[in-house]
Amino acid sequence: MAETRAKSEIILKGIGVSPGIAVYKAQLLAPQTQQAIQRSITPEEIPSEIARFNEALTDTHDQIKLIQKQVAEVLGDEHASIFDAHILVVDDRTFIEDVIRTIEKDLVNVEPVLQAVASRYADMLAKMKDSYLSERAADIRDVTKRIMANLAGEMLNQMAQITDPCIVVVHDLSPSDTASIDKKLVHGFVTDLGSATSHTSIMAKALEVPAVVGLHNITAVVSAGDTILVDGGKGLVFINPTGYRLAEYEKRAEEQEQIMQELGTLRDKPPETQDGYLVPITANIELLEELDAVGARGAKGIGLFRTEFLFLGSDTLPDEDAQTEAYERAAKSQHPSAVVIRTLDLGADKLPANFEIPDEMNPFLGDRAIRLCLSRPELFKTQLRAILRASVNDNIRMMYPMISCVQEVVEANALLRECMDELRGKGIPFNEEIQIGTMIEVPSAALIADLIAPHVRFFSLGTNDLIQYTMAVDRGNENVAHLYKPTHTAIIRLIDHVVKISHRHGLWTCVCGQMAADPVLVPLLIGLGVDELSVSPSQAPMIKDVIRKLFYSDAVELAQRSLASSSAEHVEQLCHDMIEQIAPEVLELSE
Ligand code: PEP
Ligand code: MG
Repeated sequence: MAETRAKSEIILKGIGVSPGIAVYKAQLLAPQTQQAIQRSITPEEIPSEIARFNEALTDTHDQIKLIQKQVAEVLGDEHASIFDAHILVVDDRTFIEDVIRTIEKDLVNVEPVLQAVASRYADMLAKMKDSYLSERAADIRDVTKRIMANLAGEMLNQMAQITDPCIVVVHDLSPSDTASIDKKLVHGFVTDLGSATSHTSIMAKALEVPAVVGLHNITAVVSAGDTILVDGGKGLVFINPTGYRLAEYEKRAEEQEQIMQELGTLRDKPPETQDGYLVPITANIELLEELDAVGARGAKGIGLFRTEFLFLGSDTLPDEDAQTEAYERAAKSQHPSAVVIRTLDLGADKLPANFEIPDEMNPFLGDRAIRLCLSRPELFKTQLRAILRASVNDNIRMMYPMISCVQEVVEANALLRECMDELRGKGIPFNEEIQIGTMIEVPSAALIADLIAPHVRFFSLGTNDLIQYTMAVDRGNENVAHLYKPTHTAIIRLIDHVVKISHRHGLWTCVCGQMAADPVLVPLLIGLGVDELSVSPSQAPMIKDVIRKLFYSDAVELAQRSLASSSAEHVEQLCHDMIEQIAPEVLELSE
């Protein structure tokens, strides 16, 4: 009889981005690569290969038509007309025949042939002197990408095809893939790429799915059928855990459950320090499905509604009515607590499937957030009108993302006033006194906070981007994650500066970046004078626990010592020591 030996346990350490423990079978998802894999085919397979190609062309044609219609509605006919050229490519008989002939002649699958033929056509056009023709090269490349995606349809939809409970093991997940996770089946995920504040990690927290990212090569180490134990708090992954490990984790899971239950009793208690200083805890949400979790986890109101996720989840851009409805739902669910709606932060890693924007060398420094909105006023104004219409619920506030200069605030406010005039003209009611704020997440904005202050009513510190841009460390890149330091003197000084300026101008400052959700860093932020903390609902119980065990006077002293320190590691240690002393139970959950 063949002997079956237990596979040995492998332990990997990555970045824990969403706490919790889960043990399930691995479900490996293939990378969503656009690189074609060449496969020989037999002469009998030629018709089915051509049929696949024709089907992908039809799907591509239909998708482009749909996008064109949506873009015309949102951005106007001028922008929509660029898709005429895409339709010409997908219907081009010479191009199509060329691909088909090559499949027949070389007896290989369609993907590498399509890539080779498309790149030959694109290169030829790019060399043309006529600028109209040379620009068509980009159209061919764009359309080819779309046809390739349609050919890979089964692969792209793997998330939807998961039928059994599992831990997903994948090279990388986009924020929109993460948003489409079915929590009943996906009990955790582990990825090669990613870092603590990448938008995928933020989504994992929102969904309360244990996750470890930045594991470098886990997709190469795991085999189908392996059992995976994820410890999202400590950032550990055990492949084929031993019986001893499983028993140990069963005990830990019970202990964590016990702590969570105890923290759950704080739900209706105020987020007040031992010496009576109140620090409101609001919630960051990405999806409307999270609304119920806000109050259930003891947060009050929403400090950051990342509205771009309304655009990421589906193939169609939501129109003004659909957006109004979404914002009203959020407002009603929290009333009378405030709901801060952030205008679209699209761009970089957050692009809807059907949103066309030219490739950029550095998308995080490119056409993103407020920049993208100001250059597409129709898209922006549709959202502004929707927010205004929903603002008849007087608890709605609004803020702009990624402001880097005063002019952007001035321009955005001017468009807002245009929208107000339009609504007034139509007799549509809205809150004339709606409070407008800005994110402070670009160092230039932090440094000129005094110049921005007269144009707004509040600031919201987006520390995820503020750290990325101040330290020149890509927030989503696991290779430089060790350089991403929230306790760096530069960051503490910027926060201190923004808070002081805001108070001098009679404004309040919230922190809605991940720093606010890290229990170890909460005393430091409170000591620096931050007025509100906005965190994922799942983090709220831990943050409230810390606040309620803290003395405000100790927090102020901690902040002073941190400002005087020259070492990020030293500040981290000071913060850690304080939590170890006042609320060690949260370390049990988060480290
Ligand atoms: C931030 O940058 O800290 C922030 C809250 O915005 P986002 O994470 O959505 O970029
Ligand atoms: Mg940001």
